[in-house]
Amino acid sequence: MISNATDRCRPIEAIPDSELRAIKAVFFDIDDTFSGGEGQSRILPQAYEALWRLKRAGYVVVPVTGRPAGWCDFITRMWPVTGVVGENGAFFSYLDTSKKPQKLSIHVNAWFGKYDKLACVRRILSTFFRIDFPNIVYIGDSPNDEPFFERLPITVGVANVYGFLGRMKHHPAYVTRGDGGQGFAEFAERLLGVRK
Ligand SMILES: [Mg+2]
Repeated sequence: MISNATDRCRPIEAIPDSELRAIKAVFFDIDDTFSGGEGQSRILPQAYEALWRLKRAGYVVVPVTGRPAGWCDFITRMWPVTGVVGENGAFFSYLDTSKKPQKLSIHVNAWFGKYDKLACVRRILSTFFRIDFPNIVYIGDSPNDEPFFERLPITVGVANVYGFLGRMKHHPAYVTRGDGGQGFAEFAERLLGVRK
């Protein structure tokens, strides 16, 4: 039972530095977490710059989204990310940089059965990165991020998550001051700050 929606959400300044130093991978929702903020629906420049900084600092950076495969293909190729979990965990898209770029063929993917974002992230962590849950952080903003808020030790909500807490059983452990991409950039600064 949640006694008070805000009791369990502490400011990101409260995350112990030792736990931040153990972080190797940043997984994050896109809509209204990486995008949005400052009254915008688009991606803010500080959010995109923060993504570049995280990638250049050597973190595994992976958006986790319900967006379709076509979007994820573009994101995989054009954004500074390690890969993308798409269609709510149906697949993981990444570039194999060990091979020379090739011309595309068309892919049509279809599947049946159970899948979800968390199960997909767990699988790619063990298959591709050999990283455990205590060494990743997840950033989100709404009820469809709840499985991560429930299972991971370090989770961050951007400030607009406050609008959904009353509808959620599991809350992020920490919350930023800013909404959307503003909050994303705020957390990135906190994470990168402990490395200085
Ligand atoms: Mg969202």
